[in-house]
Amino acid sequence: MVKSMLFQKDKGNLIIISGPSGVGKGTVCRALLEKYDDVALSISATTRKARIGEKEGREYFFYTREKFLQLIEKKAFLEWAEVFDNYYGTPLPYVQKILQQGQDCLLEIDVQGALQVKAKWPTGVFVFLVPPSREELVRRITCRGTETITEMQKRLKQAEDEMAHLQEYDYVVVNDFVQQAVEKLRAIIVGERCRVSRLNL
Ligand code: 5GP
Repeated sequence: MVKSMLFQKDKGNLIIISGPSGVGKGTVCRALLEKYDDVALSISATTRKARIGEKEGREYFFYTREKFLQLIEKKAFLEWAEVFDNYYGTPLPYVQKILQQGQDCLLEIDVQGALQVKAKWPTGVFVFLVPPSREELVRRITCRGTETITEMQKRLKQAEDEMAHLQEYDYVVVNDFVQQAVEKLRAIIVGERCRVSRLNL
């Protein structure tokens, strides 16, 4: 029936995932992407140093402060924020390309960035990932062993501040067991695709 063609969505949705540092956003997003290929992750730019095992263009585009500031000038970011004394930003052309291909685009960004996206892109889907408990979050941040004590303390303080913004998100997912969190996120993504307001009716 011709009418069924009208239901086809030609562009992907923007899915924003935030949550305290150490909650496992990266792990959950990676596991989701391994399982489902109709979703792609936006790769952010940052001025922070690459951690051991991180690769240019895979986890992040690692830029100098100078280059990052030039890109802000050129309005090349959908959003950007200063997090833990470094700049992080979402390259707009990268996101647009993913959406045009019809894939949903995941942004794994902090709360400041998510609020900027909310103002610019109200049809975005805002998901907050939380740890099962504060104790577990402390354990995850300290066990990672990639930050100094001062950096870890900053991350813990920031985690508490970020939790205060939970109400500004559409969904909350507890990351207790990764696969369960992935399936909840998947359910949100699929559910959002079925929203009447998103279909070409
Ligand atoms: P990390 O240094 O641990 O990779 O990331 C630190 C924080 O920066 C995390 O909360 C992460 O979500 C956030 N972040 C990563 N990329 C971006 C981005 O493009 N924009 C914003 N606003 N935050 C980001």
